[in-house]
Amino acid sequence: MNVRRSYQLLVLPGDGIGPEVMREALRVLQWAGKHAGVDFTISQALVGGAAVDAYGTPIQDETVMQAQQADAVLFGSVGGPRWERLGFSLRPEIAILRLRKELGLFANLRPVILFDPLIEASTIKPEIIRGLDLVIVRECMGGLYFGEPRGIETMADGQRRGFNTETYSTNEIERVARVAFDLARRRQRRVCSVEKANVTESGLVWREVITALHEREFADVELRHMYADNCAMQLVRNPKQFDVIVTGNIFGDILSDLASMLTGSLGMLPSATIGVSRDGHFSPALYEPIHGSAPDIAGKGIANPMAQILSVAMMLRLSLGLLVEAEIVEKACVQALSSGSRTADLAAAGEEFLSTSEMGDAVLSELERTD
Ligand code: NAD
Repeated sequence: MNVRRSYQLLVLPGDGIGPEVMREALRVLQWAGKHAGVDFTISQALVGGAAVDAYGTPIQDETVMQAQQADAVLFGSVGGPRWERLGFSLRPEIAILRLRKELGLFANLRPVILFDPLIEASTIKPEIIRGLDLVIVRECMGGLYFGEPRGIETMADGQRRGFNTETYSTNEIERVARVAFDLARRRQRRVCSVEKANVTESGLVWREVITALHEREFADVELRHMYADNCAMQLVRNPKQFDVIVTGNIFGDILSDLASMLTGSLGMLPSATIGVSRDGHFSPALYEPIHGSAPDIAGKGIANPMAQILSVAMMLRLSLGLLVEAEIVEKACVQALSSGSRTADLAAAGEEFLSTSEMGDAVLSELERTD
């Protein structure tokens, strides 16, 4: 991948803790630009509840256009109790769904890596999780969250009925499976495909399509199939058996939150949402922490900014080709944790903890040490 000298980035901090953790991530981004000698032209816009309040829509058309023209989009998080009672089209989460759809981003990559200094922060025994390094590839433009028909109706007897449709077609399955197989080739060459083929037709098609693609194009990668309920159990029992997990929208949503707790906190996990690769890089693509807007701690200055900072590292690597800086940022995060820096979510009961900006300072001072 060619490294250019200037990049156009769109930053969408969102709601709740989004703007708080984004502030620290932008300091890291600026460091990376300086280190690599490249210019970042950064535009910012409101999304989610903040955009509903300001413009009456979770995302403006203009923001979608800016995202389409950007090299990458760095997203915070959206939502919160203030906007929960609004009609579906005004829900803050529509901002992400619309961006994914209009940018053609169908694969959400969620690395689950246990940083050694956090081994005690996990609720799982150290010997089960030491060295954990897996990736969940979640299909995110189809399945239950987008399938039609969907809706709410009142039945003849007056009861209300909500309904959604889980649906997957050959092309949707093949394109996300290709992402997973390609990724596995750069890792331990093992893919576990997860569905409920025992009780759903969409699961059955998922399994058949992945099996056929594997035989045709990826026979050098080990493939196994697992039911989603078993996968949830196996992730807790023996998570190191996995290298790359590929699954649909709703199972990926749930399993990746479950997997996040193996690493100690939701506040540690970044993600990338990508489409088709062009010359080995993904652009546009969307980078965001897997956590939400955490309304319970918003405004207190205690959120962990690591997931947002690690999302910057993923963006540097996958969209901008700044591999050296991506690695330095990830190492600086580990180094800050090794030297005892902890936000409240990572600290043991009674242990002192850092504020969001102090954790940003800790990472920045590790970065500056490498200059
Ligand atoms: P959440 O991820 O916001 O919070 C779950 C728990 O984890 C909370 O106790 C929170 O304090 C804690 N937490 C999350 N991130 C943290 C961080 N960086 N540092 C420290 N603690 C952290 O999930 P939720 O409570 O289910 O959802 C809150 C809102 O966020 C909802 O409106 C939901 O729809 C939205 N949400 C948005 C996204 C997104 O924008 N991508 C993702 C998930 C949820």
